[in-house]
Amino acid sequence: MYVDSHCHLNFPALQAQLPDILTRMQAANVGHALVVSVNLRDWPGLIALVESQPCLHASVGVHPDNDAEDDDGAEPVLDDLLQRAVHPKVVAIGETGLDYYRLAEPLDWQRARFRMHIQASRQTGLPLIIHTRAAVADTIRLMREEHADHGVMHCFTETWEMARDAMDLGFYISFSGIVTFKSAVDLQQVAQKVPLDRLLIETDSPYLAPVPYRGKLNDPSKVIHVAEKIAELRGVPVSVIEQASTDNYFRLFSKINHA
Ligand SMILES: [Zn+2]
Repeated sequence: MYVDSHCHLNFPALQAQLPDILTRMQAANVGHALVVSVNLRDWPGLIALVESQPCLHASVGVHPDNDAEDDDGAEPVLDDLLQRAVHPKVVAIGETGLDYYRLAEPLDWQRARFRMHIQASRQTGLPLIIHTRAAVADTIRLMREEHADHGVMHCFTETWEMARDAMDLGFYISFSGIVTFKSAVDLQQVAQKVPLDRLLIETDSPYLAPVPYRGKLNDPSKVIHVAEKIAELRGVPVSVIEQASTDNYFRLFSKINHA
């Protein structure tokens, strides 16, 4: 069985096709998916979605690209996360992190929000889902300063050095469809090196459909193409990547096993 460690199945384009997507997941042997929160405004719909399907779980958090307007002007506070994290189907904190690519300084609010998510992870014991873009040094620095101790670097696109720094802090490395793109030569080298017991796979759907679906609407069933590419790069049977990434999913998001 495969799992998709990061998707946005609650986004309207995907939720509108939910029955078809669930059928495709079953046909592709994709047995679980984590529906990752990006704001609090859409929380009621997200939690209703994961409550409706045993194969779906949720995270709680506010994306670093979300300016406060996306949540009706309200910057999230620690209690917003802690209260929602109590729900039995909420198994992670995020997605959070830093993004210096989409937004420009001053970004003190983004760094403060990231620190607050790390505190929520430490208080709940739930793993962090970290997004980082054009912000490697500050991401690692804040993870160290706030004592982030477990989670996943989602949709990883950075260097081996950053992967190693994150793994040293107890983090997993998750690869998306980007690893299937011809141009992603450096990332493919990272995907060859990440130890099997630290490797996760994801779609980040509806975005980033893997080859041969590039540019189309993505969904969790397509995570198998990410696994196939990593297996090809490493010269191992795809079952090796399937087994390792699924074991890692249930080890990292351990609250699933007790829900
Ligand atoms: Zn995402």
